[in-house]
Amino acid sequence: MKHQNTLEFAQQLDEKDPLRSFRDKFHFPNFMDTEMVYFTGNSLGLQPKSAGSYIQEELDAWAKYGVEGHFLAEKPWFAYHEFLTEKAARIVGANPEEVVVTHSLTTNLHLLMVSFFKPEGKRTKIICEAKAFPSDQYALESQVKFHGLNLETDLVEIEPREGEHLIREEDILDKIAEVGDELAMVMIGGVNYYTGQLFDMEAITKAGHDVGAKVGFDLAHAAGNINLKLHDWGVDFAAWCGYKYLNSSPGGVSGIFVHERHAYNPGLPRFAGWWGYDKETRFQMEPGFNPMRGAEGWQLSNAPVLGMAAHLASLDIFDEAGMDRIGEKRDKITAYLEFVIEDISARNSDRCTFEIITPKDKAKRGAQLSILAHGQGKDLFDAITKKGVIADWREPNVIRIAPAPLYNSYEDCFRFGAYLEGAIQ
Ligand SMILES: *Cc1c(COP(=O)(O)O)cnc(C)c1O
Repeated sequence: MKHQNTLEFAQQLDEKDPLRSFRDKFHFPNFMDTEMVYFTGNSLGLQPKSAGSYIQEELDAWAKYGVEGHFLAEKPWFAYHEFLTEKAARIVGANPEEVVVTHSLTTNLHLLMVSFFKPEGKRTKIICEAKAFPSDQYALESQVKFHGLNLETDLVEIEPREGEHLIREEDILDKIAEVGDELAMVMIGGVNYYTGQLFDMEAITKAGHDVGAKVGFDLAHAAGNINLKLHDWGVDFAAWCGYKYLNSSPGGVSGIFVHERHAYNPGLPRFAGWWGYDKETRFQMEPGFNPMRGAEGWQLSNAPVLGMAAHLASLDIFDEAGMDRIGEKRDKITAYLEFVIEDISARNSDRCTFEIITPKDKAKRGAQLSILAHGQGKDLFDAITKKGVIADWREPNVIRIAPAPLYNSYEDCFRFGAYLEGAIQ
């Protein structure tokens, strides 16, 4: 179907959208007088209207039962995380035993690297992406230093070629083969936060395994966005946060994946805590650590129930919508937004041109578009912000926008374009 950059056309697409009713399940920011456009679901997802009642249920249980809520609450807190496991596993394509929701993302990355980054002999190197999300950079650097290794030689960063914005996948695969038996671990963002580039996680995993390395992914920008198959792809480990596409409250809980072949391997080193201990005998408080099978064995602490209640509210919405339908809309709405931006860019090329650095191929991206605004940059970003667009500015010159398929509309895309065009003029 040929796209048109008109309100009427956008509204027609909305009418045909099988997920259109889901928009109504979320609170939209309305702190300005204009009709605002929220395109930052890749940074903080919107609040499900149901989150309040999920949290209130636990507040009421706390008021009524005190500590006994661990067992007497309708969803006993002792096992609260278990109510999230299957739903989270469906989102990332895993068996329930391979997933647990716990802690926060950077904490989980460290805990997983304690188990899966085990430098030995000459196998000491990590391959990662250059300019990874800052927290990942710091986590990787500190892991390298913690093992007494050399940052210059043991942290191998892959960057885009000179004059390019995206990392070529062949460069990742070639580098893995080249580092070969010196490679201990590959740790890359499944979707790059800056460019929105989606990597072929299956191919990277296979290449890493071919040389005997472990392979893990940070899925902060992939969970709830990309149709993942972590189990089938054979990924060793992964972690994601719950508050981006997964709409689970600011700083909300994270999820981890540990492949079932590592599910019960007491030989793996790990930092342990009581909630990772076998739950049948946890309260005998015996010395010596006896881990739960599967990802649950990586938990340190008992569940932060209020944050998890918000996550559960959102996971229930994902279950209702289903990742298949979300993926279909993601591709359509992102393509429409891309069309709108290109249309405006073409009609205003005397003033400003936009370059979308995110891959054009839908198999290589999710719901995010990263726009380089040649000639305007931050001024343009400030101007659209004033008009009511909530987007994200990343130094030095990228505007990131993400139409979240669960709640953004095609009309949002049209409106964004109109604000953008107004701002140029
Ligand atoms: C958002 C994000 C984080 C944030 O980490 P927290 O521990 O949740 O603060 C880390 N890594 C990546 C790639 C991210 O996109």
